[in-house]
Amino acid sequence: MFKDKVIYSVVVPLYNEELVIFESYKRLKEVMDSTGEEYEIVFVNDGSKDGTKTKVQLICKKDFRIKLVNFSRNFGHQAAITAGMNIAMGEAIVVIDADLQDPPEVILKMIEKWKEGYEVVYGKRVKREGETFFKKFTASIYYKLLKSMTSVDIPTDVGDFRLIDRKVCDALSSLPEKNRYVRGLVSWVGFKQTYVEFIRQKRLAGETKYPLSKMVKLALDGITSLSYRPLSLINYVGVFLLIASLLSAIIIIIKNIANRVDILSMGLVLSINSFMISLLFISMGIMGQYIGRIFDEVKDRPIYIVDNIVNYEKIDSNNLNMKS
Ligand code: UDP
Ligand code: MG
Repeated sequence: MFKDKVIYSVVVPLYNEELVIFESYKRLKEVMDSTGEEYEIVFVNDGSKDGTKTKVQLICKKDFRIKLVNFSRNFGHQAAITAGMNIAMGEAIVVIDADLQDPPEVILKMIEKWKEGYEVVYGKRVKREGETFFKKFTASIYYKLLKSMTSVDIPTDVGDFRLIDRKVCDALSSLPEKNRYVRGLVSWVGFKQTYVEFIRQKRLAGETKYPLSKMVKLALDGITSLSYRPLSLINYVGVFLLIASLLSAIIIIIKNIANRVDILSMGLVLSINSFMISLLFISMGIMGQYIGRIFDEVKDRPIYIVDNIVNYEKIDSNNLNMKS
């Protein structure tokens, strides 16, 4: 009954966001109230260790539109937005960060596009404020690399701030993979896609919850989930080295016969040897990245575990991992 009425679901992942949560709620509420249509805001608390949970619980007591999903521990940003999308009941689902780097007002522009018939409306960052040169530089190289490696058309300068239609949300929920790179999966499922531009703001307060280790993991998830190209690359390198070593062997033999002297120094032999061994280790590492992810798929553990949910009485938390 209530389920049919929700038009918009706003999914907000939270990890140690006690400094921003009240302001974030206030801004989101203002924007969503202005639509004049029924909505819900789904906060997904990804195992926060600070006062995030208590603060959202306070909000939930006052406002029945606010839902809270508490994970049993930190499962990561992508798992949190996956849970939010799985639980969302709206006809259009918006994913937005809690730190107000993605301005909530842009949601209204996304809704306009959705009403025009687009099924995916992603937020495209035309400018990034308050982010380090290192982050912008590595991000731009990464997206170029990712684009060159996959035939899936992944838009550049796009994060997880986007609106998706119910159809797209159901399609995403039906994908069972564990190490999720949601923005890649959204491109992969297709549908009618467009974008709205926005200026990415500074974080309202607190520190980034994406240390380098999490960024590297996300970057590798993106490449491995969309492309086999790194594996083919090992093949090409192997073939190239085989040809190069055959040629150099022939040259050395001829020179040795002609001059009757040994032209290879010990130092050169050692450095070629260690170069080859490094390549072998890198190749094993690349294979390891895929094998580890295959292992995760085979174990078939859930993507996240829900401790409890607030203001969502009708949903059994055991069913949260079920694909629709
Ligand atoms: N986040 C999360 N789990 C994590 C890390 C981050 O749910 O393990 C949330 C975080 O609370 C925020 C969003 O994901 O709402 C994006 O994180 P953050 O703003 O720290 O990333 P950045 O904008 O610096 O890339
Ligand atoms: Mg942020």
